[in-house]
Order: sequence, then C-alpha cells, then structure tokens
Amino acid sequence: MSGIDSDDDTVRDACGIFAVYDDPDAPNLTALGLFALQHRGEESAGLVVSKNGTLQALRGLGLVTDALPPALVTKLESRIAIGHTRYATAGGAGLHNAQPMLASTAKGQVAVAHNGTITNARFLKRKLEERGAIFSSTGDTEVILHLIAQAKGEHFIDRLKEAVGQIEGAFSLLLLHGETLVGVRDPMGFRPLVLGEKHTGGGVQYVLASETCALDLIEAKYVREVEPGEMVVIDGNGLRSLRFATPTRVAPCVFEHIYFARPDSHVFGRDVYAVRKALGRELGKLHPAQADVVIPVPDSGVPAALGFSEATGIPFDMAFTRSHYVGRSFIQPAQGIRNLAVRLKLATAAGAIKDKRVVVVDDSLVRGTTSKKIVTLLRAAGAKEVHLRISAPPTIAPCFYGIDMPTKNELIAAMNDTEAVRKFVGADSIGYVTIEAMRRAVGYGSANDFCEACFTEEYPVSVSDSAPPFANIP
Ligand code: AMP
Repeated sequence: MSGIDSDDDTVRDACGIFAVYDDPDAPNLTALGLFALQHRGEESAGLVVSKNGTLQALRGLGLVTDALPPALVTKLESRIAIGHTRYATAGGAGLHNAQPMLASTAKGQVAVAHNGTITNARFLKRKLEERGAIFSSTGDTEVILHLIAQAKGEHFIDRLKEAVGQIEGAFSLLLLHGETLVGVRDPMGFRPLVLGEKHTGGGVQYVLASETCALDLIEAKYVREVEPGEMVVIDGNGLRSLRFATPTRVAPCVFEHIYFARPDSHVFGRDVYAVRKALGRELGKLHPAQADVVIPVPDSGVPAALGFSEATGIPFDMAFTRSHYVGRSFIQPAQGIRNLAVRLKLATAAGAIKDKRVVVVDDSLVRGTTSKKIVTLLRAAGAKEVHLRISAPPTIAPCFYGIDMPTKNELIAAMNDTEAVRKFVGADSIGYVTIEAMRRAVGYGSANDFCEACFTEEYPVSVSDSAPPFANIP
C-alpha cells in the first residue's frame, strides 16, 4: 500500500500479507507467517480475525513481535485470520495507516490487507470524495474499501469484482468478509501471492502468503501461485477460483528476485537463492577482477558473491559482521542517520581484508550511500584495492508499483554515469549486471515477461494516464 496525497510525504511501501483459513490456531499461525515476512515491512503489523463472522482487528506499530504481542494474539481465538506487515519510509507511519484495514459497510464488515501500489488511487479517491466518501488514512488501500462499499452487486464477491475492476497498478490483496476469505492478484501479477495448505485434524487448512518462506515456517505445503487476474475465494464450501481480468501481459517485479524477497522463498516459479547466485555468476563473467578475495555485503549480497566466486575462482570470504539488532539502513529517512546506520550494521574483520585486493558484492545500488560507506570501511580496514560489483543493473527509475525507492534525482545511477558513480563511492572499479544477463539469471526472455521499470524506465502500467499517486514521475 502507499500514500497518495501530495501532503503525505509520498509513502511508498512494500508489504507482506498472510492468511489462514479454518485452523483453531489461525491468529497465532498468522502472526508467525508475518514474522517470516518481516523483511517485507518493519513499520507496523496487524491481524484481522473472523469470529463467527464478526471481524476484530489487532494492530500495532513496529516489528511483528512488538505490534502483535503473543498474549493478545492468543486471546483472539478464531479459525480465520488475515495479517499484514507494513514497510513505509518517511511520513504516513502512524497507526491510522496500519493494516489490515477494517470497515463497516451497509452490507457488513470488510477487512483488507494490501501489498502493492494502486496507480490510479488519487483519481479514484477524488471521485469517491465527490460522492461523499470520507477517508481516514493517507494510503491508497482505503480506496478499495470505499469502492466495495459503494458497489452495487448483491453478493460480496460481485461487489469485490466491481471494485477491483476499477483499480490499476500493483495489488496482491487479502480480504475478509464474514467467514469468506479472498486472495486477489492484479492482472499483471506485480507482487507475489501464493497458496498453501496444511492438513491437520483430518481437514484442510488454506494459507495465502506473499512468499513461500512463510508457508515453510508454519509447515504448510506450497500448492501454487495465485495467478495474475485471479481471485481465490475460500469459504465453508472450500476453495474456488475466479477470473476477474484476462492479463494482456504479465509484469512480475524482477526486484523481488534481486533484493526484496527472502532467499529461501520460491517466487514467480523460481528459487530466489538460485537466481541470486546466477546473478553473481553473470557478474563474474561480465566484470572479473584481479583480486585476492570476494566478500559479500551481508545478508543480501551473499548468494551473488558466492556465484561471483564460483565464476571467477576468486576465494570467497565473510569479512563483514552484520549486526542483526538494527533495521534496514533504508528505514532511516534522514540522510545523516542513514550514513550512521550503515556503520551500525556492518563491522569488518580486518584480517580478511588487510593488504588484499578486495571484490565486494552487493545486490543493488540505489542512492550510493551504502556502497560509499562500505568502500570507506574496507579501506579503513587496510584493503589495497576495492572493486565494487553490483548484482543488478543500475537503478535508474523510481518504482510506482510498491517497492520503496527514492525519487529519480536521488537515484545516483539515474543522474550520473558509471565513472561518476565509481568516483562517488570511492571504488577502484565498479561493475553491474546487464539487463540481458539479469534476464538470463532470472530465466526469462523479454521485457514483456517481467517488470524491469526500475532498471529500464519502461513502465508496464502507464502511470501518467491513470492519475499517478506521486509527483516525481520522470
Ligand atoms: P543505497 O545506499 O541507497 O545505495 O542503498 C543500497 C542498499 O540498500 C543495498 O545494500 C540494498 O541491499 C539495499 N536496498 C535496495 N533497495 C532497497 C529498498 N527498496 N529498501 C531497502 N533497502 C534497499
């Protein structure tokens, strides 16, 4: 979900969503699922449960363990639950934007958890406000609730179809109405959403999750992806699949594979870990270096550094110690604090670096702040040379589909050529993966198979035609 007002600080969130249907431990299992999806959002977390058809919410700020204290989760006692973990940058961080959102409509309560960004939300919001709707959050997700509330259809699923037929952009959704759970994936399939099953007590329990790592944690079996343009409806009659749109093309987010998803997940039909290693091998072939050691920026650079080492024969070493007690450096909005956060997060084992020619591998370069700090740390630890390798193409364009990215003029590779970036970060050399090599590593053929907008500036959903949520469109 994301912010849509010009005065709400352009919140762009990537999120994690999770649901369990028909298990006596549904609230606790959902909290565990969210815990496995913590990397998709650290800002707030929430649950909505259905108790004999009445919906009840528990939401809080911060990490899942803080937002959803086990003592309160256990008290929810319900067989059906949906959950959300939220990732936002500056602004919009309040509890009013926490999800799942819960609303009462003339035809009953509805709860929604959203991962993605609705690109025509500002336009829809204006239209809804003209008809008298009052919004209580600054995000785009509330638009969905209003569209459902104003839809004409007799049954919930008809009203939901009417609502999702009007929204554009990226949306993987979980909805609860009475004792009906619905999973929805937008027609282009920007964000992941998978279906799983548990078999306990002689019955089947359905699970929906952003990533398979959350299924694994609760020992649910991966069944399949929810398809782009598909709606999965789960109620007392079991599970049925409906199509609300026929995709003209799909655009799953390649950045999920580059950085966002957890490496033990299976995303868009591929193992993230294997893809990241393959990206590292491609990088090694494209930009080998005369070096003594390859080190990753942990954790996200590890598989690619292993691949790089494999392709080049340069020995791999773990020279960085990462503190797991600080959040992602990106979460700090102010530049000064971001600089500090990198230092807080990473420390160098000087023995592995001193007097060596070092290749350091990271998964992506966005503002360049992290890489600059890393090069400085390595030089301070005595590295003779520092060769920076990035297992993605240069990030040149902001994301309008749910990944938190800065504006274009903050993206260092959008504003500078490679030599200027090298100078800024202070490395002896710099090398990226090409678009073609990225496609080979992920395993697809053309620009029409994935969304690569952050690397190519080619947006699969025209943001400008559909009343863009943000002002900084290129
Ligand atoms: P930067 O310092 O802006 O160049 O950020 C690059 C670092 O941030 C890399 O180490 C990535 O692992 C990480 N990163 C890339 N994209 C994101 C994102 N959307 N949210 C949080 N961290 C990110």
